[in-house]
Order: sequence, then C-alpha cells, then structure tokens
Amino acid sequence: MHMEKPRNIVIVGGGTSGWMTASYLAAAFGDRVSITLVESGKVGTIGVGEATFSDIRHFFHFLGLDEREWMPECNATYKLAVRFENWRRPGHHFYHPFEQMRAVDGFPLADWWLREPLTDRFDRDCFVLASLCDAERNPRFLDGSLFEQDYVEDKDDVARHTISAYQGAQFPYAYHFEAHLLAKFLTGYATERGVRHVIDDVVDVALDERGWIDHLRTGEHGELGGDLFVDCTGFRGVLLNQRLGEPFISYQDTLPNDSAVALQVPLDMERRGIRPCTSATAQDAGWIWTIPLFGRIGTGYVYARDYCEPDEAERVLREFVGPAAADASANHIRMRIGRSRNSWVNNCVAVGLSSGFVEPLESTGIFFIHHAVEQLVKYFPGEDWDPTLRTMYNNAIAHCMDGVREFLVLHYKAALRADNEYWRDTKTRAIPDGLAERLELWRSRLPDAETVYPYYHGLPPYSYMCILLGMGGIPLRPSPALGLTDDTAARKEFQLLRDRAEHLVRRLPTQHEYFSRMRRQQ
Ligand code: FAD
Repeated sequence: MHMEKPRNIVIVGGGTSGWMTASYLAAAFGDRVSITLVESGKVGTIGVGEATFSDIRHFFHFLGLDEREWMPECNATYKLAVRFENWRRPGHHFYHPFEQMRAVDGFPLADWWLREPLTDRFDRDCFVLASLCDAERNPRFLDGSLFEQDYVEDKDDVARHTISAYQGAQFPYAYHFEAHLLAKFLTGYATERGVRHVIDDVVDVALDERGWIDHLRTGEHGELGGDLFVDCTGFRGVLLNQRLGEPFISYQDTLPNDSAVALQVPLDMERRGIRPCTSATAQDAGWIWTIPLFGRIGTGYVYARDYCEPDEAERVLREFVGPAAADASANHIRMRIGRSRNSWVNNCVAVGLSSGFVEPLESTGIFFIHHAVEQLVKYFPGEDWDPTLRTMYNNAIAHCMDGVREFLVLHYKAALRADNEYWRDTKTRAIPDGLAERLELWRSRLPDAETVYPYYHGLPPYSYMCILLGMGGIPLRPSPALGLTDDTAARKEFQLLRDRAEHLVRRLPTQHEYFSRMRRQQ
C-alpha cells in the first residue's frame, strides 16, 4: 500500500482543465500541497470551450475572483440560456434558460400551460429569461446590481459553496469566455499562489512495481516525481488511458456526432449586439453553435462523419456565418465521445477531455471539469490512500457523465425534425435503457424529481421539461387533475411573469452597454 501523504501533485496539461485544476487545488489547499503543472510547448490545446453552466460562478467565487477582475481579461459575456433554433422546423426557436420553473398549486407552470397554452411560446409564457434573451438584455443593471429574480445575491456570503452541495435557488446566468484567455488568466492566478509551471513534453511515464505512477520523464527537465498525478492531456489521455491502460467507454452508439469544425469570427458587436445566450442551430448532419463574446463570436459545426465530410461541414459553417468568416481559419476537431471507465486509477486522476466528453450541446465540458475538481477535493486521499474514496469519486464522475449523455440523447429523440436520413435515424437509434423507461413515464406526466435520472448530473427536472416542450416531437399531456382544478392562481402567475418580463426588458441595458462600461471603469 502507498503510505506517503499525497502532498506533491503533478498536473500534466495546460488547457482549461489543467489550469482550472491547478487554481482550484491551490485555492483549496494553499501551501499545504506542492503543485507542478507541466504542459507541452508543441502539443496545442483544443482551442474551443467557451460556454458554461450557471454553477461556474461557484468556481470563481471559490477562487475569490470578482467578475470585474477576470471578465474583461477573457472577453467574457453573460449567458442566460441556450437558444435552440430549427430543431422543430425551420424558423422555430425556444430557450432552455437558467431559471427554475415556478409551480402553482403543486403543478409546474408547464403543466398549466399544456392544459391551455397562452401563446405558442411555452418558454416566454413560463420564464422571464426567454423574453430577456429575445430582447437581448443584460441580467445586471449598469450599477452592477442583479435584476431581482428568485435568486437574491448576498455579497457578504463568505462560505465557499460547491456545485453539488449548494441547494440555493437557480442563479440566472453563466458565462461565455475565450478559453485561451481564461487559461492565461488562471496561469497567472495559480503561479502567483505557488504553482510551479514547466513547459516541456512528458515523454515517458514510469510506474513502480504495483503499477502506480512513480515519476514522469520530460524532454528537457528530467524526471518529475510526485504522489498524485492529474492527467489533463485532453483526448490523448497520456497517463490514464495510454500508460495505465484504463479503457474508454464510447457513447457513440447513442450520440453519433464525432467531429467539429470551429471558427473564431471578429465582429462589430456594438452594431450587431451581444445576444445573452448560446445558440444551437440544427443542421443537416448536426448543429452549429454560436457563442457571442466581447469582440467576436465563436462558432462551430458539430456533425457526424457518417453523414457529412469535413469539407462539406466547413462549407456549411462558412455559409452560415457569411462574409465575416472569409479570413477566419478553420479548426477541424475529431471528438472522443464517452468516458474513461474509471477516471481515477491508483494515483492518477484524469480531469477534462481525458476523463470524458459529450458533444458540447449543453456546454457541459467545463462543468465536468469543475465538478471533477470539487469531487477530487471532497475525496482527496489520506496517507492510507483509502480505495473506497477512489471508488466513490469514480461513481460520482461516471454517474454525472452518464446522466448528461441521457439528457443530450433526449434532445435528438424529442426533436420533431425528421427530414433527412440523419434526423430520421435519431428517432430509431438505440437510447440508454434508463431513458427508454423514463420516456414512457413522461408521456403520461411531465418529468419531476422522481422520474429524471436519479444521480447528480447538474440538470434539474425543469431542464427536461424545457427540452420536451421545445423540441416538440414527443406528445405530452397535462395532468388530468388540472381539468378539475381552479386555474385562477395559475392565470395570475402567468400574468405576473409577463408583466415582470416587460418591465425588465424596458429597464435593463444591453450587454454591450454593460461590458463597455465595466471596461472603462477598469
Ligand atoms: P486540451 O485543451 O486538449 O489540453 C491538453 C493539454 O495537454 C495541452 O496543454 C497539451 O499541451 C497537453 N499535453 C498533451 N500531451 C502532452 C504531453 N505528452 N506532455 C505534456 N503536455 C501534454 N466545453 C464547454 O464547457 N463549453 C463549450 O462550449 C465547449 N465546446 C466544445 C466544443 C468542441 C468542439 C469540443 C471538442 C469541446 C468543447 N468543450 C466545451 C469542452 C472543452 O473544450 C474542454 O472541456 C476543455 O477545453 C478542456 O480541455 P482539456 O484541458 O481537457 O484538453
């Protein structure tokens, strides 16, 4: 048994996962651990990953960072929702917002809406944020105060929350940011707090007689020894998959999109406006993301090679963006979809793409990293390296990714679109067993806490309701009890929401106004 205190941590990889891990561990443990991060000067980072989950605020809060410090440095903007376009039919859109669904008399508003739709927009009828997205409003006023929602901001809250432990109300926004700028910002943060930064290639991973990592051999810096090794080497999985031989479980049978082509397109955002949401626009063999940043958009086509060639994908993407994309060079990416069977083996933990990845439809890559580092702290080993902690960590990570896979499969299964082979196949392809059962339940009653995937995976029941209602391909029914219930209170609630949305649309600034002002004040 390994009897050393795991005080010496070596992280391999300097992408988003490497620097998020280094920063978080430095913030959690301070100088009680020693952290070295080694990254190749030759192998680049993936170069994408710009939209997040609303829980990401816990990450920055844990690091003690204020938005005014890091957002301008990373050309960051706010994200209130994911906007799905053309998944039902051309010209249709709906939002999956960061806003809990209200309930009246024990039934979610969506249930009341199904009983008697007010308009053809369930999202605008049931959520305030859908209207703010349509009107391209910022969630904060120019003085920095957050618009009043269910969530009440407490500036004096000093307790550092983690995502899975936090039981408070839904925070109304996430961020978009430039991934390489965030990595650069966190490099400064982590190295200022004592993280040693080595730029070199790991050329060999030496194991001891039990198969634990003893040290890494680098091209120019000799051997790097450590107690705990964190594999942040991206899809390569240099330590966990390549050296320790941990198998990778593919999700490809249920999620066939295996490729992407990405562009970074500078645009005049003052003229164009900065939409406060990520857009996912359905295409013939996948979908295109549009992520508005301060000064440019990040965009890319996620597609399945079985249905579309890379050249064709690039052509479609360029046509979608228009003339502004003419000078942008394309980044073609082959994606490894699935997860490592165990993300933690012996004294090696994989975080980021080496641990697992599902296509970026709901922006879960950075959420997986954040969740993983929180769990790593939670299950951090003592000197006896209790294997039960490792098992609990592995279960938490596997459950989280498997749950997100189910949620993404639901998008395709539930989309009304079925106008070509790619979209028709989404209706007949295998789906995870659990989802098949749950879909049967949801045909009779909207998803709730009792019927969604049972382990923590970052997605509450209202998210499932949104996708089912928005995608339109699965018939849904209101609860029969509503036919016997007085709807006065529900009508009042819908009216309140509408009034509130109109009021906020009139008063809130645009994102461009807000961030221009934040930058001037720096
Ligand atoms: P990488 O960025 O690939 O970094 C790997 C690092 O390992 C590099 O620094 C490299 O130099 C180093 N390395 C490799 N081999 C060696 C070696 N032998 N020696 C030393 N160093 C080595 N996530 C989101 O949350 N939102 C999104 O919108 C989103 N969009 C995405 C779109 C696409 C198409 C893809 C593929 C991913 C997307 N993701 C998104 C996921 C996100 O990009 C990743 O989760 C994130 O960037 C983390 O990547 P990484 O750090 O694990 O790997």
